[in-house]
Amino acid sequence: MKVPLLDLTGQYEQIKEEIMEVMQKIFQEQHFILGPRVKALEAELAQYCRTVDAVGVSSGTDALMISLMAAEIGSGDVVLTTPYSFFATAGVVHRLGAQPAFCDIEPDTYNLSPARFAETLERFKGMDKARLRAVIPVHLYGQCADMDPILELSKKANLTVIEDAAQAIGAEYKGKRAGSMGDFGCFSFFPSKNLGAFGDGGCVTTQVESTGHRLRILRVHGSEPKYYHPMIGGNFRLDTLQAAVVSVKLKHLDGWTEKRRENAARYRRYFESAKLENRVALPIEKESRHIYNQFVIRVKDKRDALKAFLAESGIGTEIYYPIPLHLQPCFSYLNYRKGDFPEAERAAGQTLALPIYPELTDAQAAYVVEKIQEFFMKAK
Ligand SMILES: *Cc1c(COP(=O)(O)O)cnc(C)c1O
Repeated sequence: MKVPLLDLTGQYEQIKEEIMEVMQKIFQEQHFILGPRVKALEAELAQYCRTVDAVGVSSGTDALMISLMAAEIGSGDVVLTTPYSFFATAGVVHRLGAQPAFCDIEPDTYNLSPARFAETLERFKGMDKARLRAVIPVHLYGQCADMDPILELSKKANLTVIEDAAQAIGAEYKGKRAGSMGDFGCFSFFPSKNLGAFGDGGCVTTQVESTGHRLRILRVHGSEPKYYHPMIGGNFRLDTLQAAVVSVKLKHLDGWTEKRRENAARYRRYFESAKLENRVALPIEKESRHIYNQFVIRVKDKRDALKAFLAESGIGTEIYYPIPLHLQPCFSYLNYRKGDFPEAERAAGQTLALPIYPELTDAQAAYVVEKIQEFFMKAK
């Protein structure tokens, strides 16, 4: 049996007619940049995320970048974040001339630890406090970071809060939607995210009307009106074709999220019968709505051998992420060492994402767990 990590073809079959219809219209109109379709999607996204505004941008990476620019973060500034995320979370900080600094994660959710965050803030107090400008909590795998203490600590330290919600559209924390809690919410429409475009795309959500206005200026090279530049922005536009695809898919998103959640529950049942609790730890649902962009297990021993065995058995898996950000060669100038963030380092050596996409069948899920069980029987 073949079980790819992600298969988008089944999803496409469900929306083919809707997509074809709107694509034909756009080809007739020949209007490809921003325009009323992007505007309409922005209103739909703001409503979905329960925010005042949403601004379509060119990618999740650019959503983070433009948020930092809107907060005027740049040379000499420091931005705190987790060492256990996709590279873009910290990459954008460096690209703006600021410096990323890391705090370790919680071992159960893999999200930024409020306790470690508090300690880091204490350490900065004695040093150059003024340089510390923002924090980027990441809602990893589709589950929100523990936002209450993060928001409270940030408020006291006067930090801008930029939620990296690229993996978490529709996720909730105590009834609040991802992207609605911080100063900025950053989303990605990369095809493997729960709400994926047919290419790159993203958006930034905000609860402040004037911030939406500012982001729209930055999105077009900082110009307002056209060819007059009160600030320096870039080309961060979401194009019309991608907006139309995302708009069609958004109507289906909650149905697909429910299927992902059902698949997670199904995995839990199969893992329980397989009696693998000494080998494998399942993801925990700490916050009220985990949207399972990934279903990530922790494999205490032989993770890489298990991954190889599953690949031989036709099962696609992935390691998100094999090297924590503080140990990436490009960040060696930050002078972090191995051992600085033990939880992130342990996670990098033990996590494994299993297929969880909505169209995954019961038989496929059963087969995945069966093969994991087979591997550990042999490994004994
Ligand atoms: C995907 C992702 C991004 C970047 O989004 P792109 O659209 O690929 O630029 C940023 N942060 C996290 C946590 C992501 O998963």
